[in-house]
Amino acid sequence: MTFLAPQTQTSIEFAADLIRHSKHAVILTGAGISTPSGIPDFRSSGTGLWSRDEPLEVASLITFRTKPGQFFEWFRPLALQMYEARPNPAHLALAELEQHGYIKSIITQNVDTLHQKSGSKTVIELHGTMQTLTCTQCYHQVQAEAYIASFIECGELPRCPKCAQLLKPDVILFGEQLPQSAWFKAQKEARGCDLMLVIGSSLEVLPVAGLPMQALDRGAHLIIINNVPTYLNVRADVSIHRRLIDISRDLASTLDLDILLSRIVHAAAEISGAEAASILLYDDASRQLYFQVSTNMDESTRRGITVPLDGSIAGWIVTNRKPVRITDAHEDQRFYSNVEAITGLSTESLLGIPLITKNKIVGVLEALNKHRGKFTEADESLLLVLGVQAAVAIENTRLFQQSDLISEFVHELRTPLSSLSTATYLLLRPEMSQDQRDQIIQNIHSETMRLNALASSFLDLARLESGRVQYRKTIFSLADLMYECKDIMATKAVEDNIHLRVESPEGLPLVDADRDKIKQVFLNLLSNSIKYNRPNGSVLLRAEIHDNEIMVVIQDTGIGIPEEALPHLFQKFYRVREHETRASGTGLGLSICKQIVQGHGGRIEVKSKMSVGTVFMIYLPRTNKTVPRDGSIDISPKRAKK
Ligand code: ADP
Repeated sequence: MTFLAPQTQTSIEFAADLIRHSKHAVILTGAGISTPSGIPDFRSSGTGLWSRDEPLEVASLITFRTKPGQFFEWFRPLALQMYEARPNPAHLALAELEQHGYIKSIITQNVDTLHQKSGSKTVIELHGTMQTLTCTQCYHQVQAEAYIASFIECGELPRCPKCAQLLKPDVILFGEQLPQSAWFKAQKEARGCDLMLVIGSSLEVLPVAGLPMQALDRGAHLIIINNVPTYLNVRADVSIHRRLIDISRDLASTLDLDILLSRIVHAAAEISGAEAASILLYDDASRQLYFQVSTNMDESTRRGITVPLDGSIAGWIVTNRKPVRITDAHEDQRFYSNVEAITGLSTESLLGIPLITKNKIVGVLEALNKHRGKFTEADESLLLVLGVQAAVAIENTRLFQQSDLISEFVHELRTPLSSLSTATYLLLRPEMSQDQRDQIIQNIHSETMRLNALASSFLDLARLESGRVQYRKTIFSLADLMYECKDIMATKAVEDNIHLRVESPEGLPLVDADRDKIKQVFLNLLSNSIKYNRPNGSVLLRAEIHDNEIMVVIQDTGIGIPEEALPHLFQKFYRVREHETRASGTGLGLSICKQIVQGHGGRIEVKSKMSVGTVFMIYLPRTNKTVPRDGSIDISPKRAKK
């Protein structure tokens, strides 16, 4: 699963719930849904189609009638882009949702037909379509493809096959009314829906922008996914900034701190509409901040600039752990002007937020000079969400880079590697008997296996510790999982002559957890309880229902653990010295178990008595759901609603 900021994650889950529980969900899409398909957005600053030409002039009915050459000149690259564009995952997802009965219709402001190309059936096109052309003289309508293709290729203006007059694309131009039947249908959908999901529309053009309001007025829920806030975000049940989803994905894909931070500052500048953005990291030892990355400074400029903790806005943010919004930085007493002198960028407005993770301040994210107007509260919220992700990512990357684990791991590798090298050296000696050689080969084999296990466990633990493991939670029956684990371990138990059994009480509630990860914990503990047992010993896997949690117990009649070893048991690479000759292991299993259980909001405990046995207790939060009488569990996320 993607690494998302908690807020974004929760918003998405909530939005999914609203869709799942709606009876009549309607989608309203705007240009934003098609920008990832390569069709430029009409309004976004810098990238928009309209920013190059004056829309009211060129994309109007008047221009079409009076200066068709100019109109078609504007239209040609647009037509080319639309014909070449392919549906993106958002279009495809909507088509799939419709297919599964989750949504009833799509109202779109787009003319690119990408919804239809992706398989959506009920599409209401409010701004017309690129699929057809109509004669301005005799109203004869033709399929656009052949005409547009030859127009794109040789620039030949499309003409009516009947009367040779110009054919007009059936898209709604400025000065034209919305198609009546589509508009009526859209209004009917808006008034009749119980959920409207607006995707990629800034809701700036009336009357379409009024459709979500009509839905809200009739009690429908509203979800907005867009790259800028709309006038209705305050009334939406959920609003998700599209760029935050993209950046979350981006962040998850790299552990290189520089690349990561560069992505974050560019996203920060983009979503807050700022001229520049920077991240300053705080160095506790020197009580200074230094520019780690910036959209407007190259490395050589950046290097060497430090900002003092006292007497700077960034320093104030670090000390007070609060965001700052300033309209005129020069008027602010805290402003530290030295940076401006080096970069040459005059600072006017400024928005800065603290980067905090695990209650530790790691730095400051600053956006400078809002393109239009002042930095708003909405900009601040967006930067804060981004800041959460940035701080976690910085910390994780640092953790990963500096992890003690790596040096511990290298240290751990030394023993098996040196025994392998001794073994190969011995094998080369001519005086070795065949029996001795067989024994050495056997040792090489088991050490290699141990190295392999060590490497996989190490990677597992490193990922768990860095916080990058996402738990894929489902609701499942714990009893079933316990029996499944017993079956998996049965052969090993028989081999070692251990009696293995499961006890699960009646009405054991279901648990909401990552089944595979919990299974990994059970298997690890069961394997230990067999490995460190005595001949003819036994292992019991049982569950108990407590008030707010379920306790799973793995109890053995084994050799036990000395009391002085118990406090160290969950430490990385820790193995009880007396056990080392008895069974091979990595000393990482219990650390992994602890990480997983704690990652689920639970805890793990151990009790042991030498020569009597050991008990591991896992406590997991419980749900209120129990396994139905017929044993079936309905956790299916899909619900056919046709
Ligand atoms: P390993 O794979 O080396 O056994 P673990 O992290 O799973 O690593 O366990 C750490 C140590 O704890 C083991 O080396 C062993 O000494 C001790 N231990 C774990 N489980 C038991 C048990 N059920 N009985 C006795 N000792 C145990």
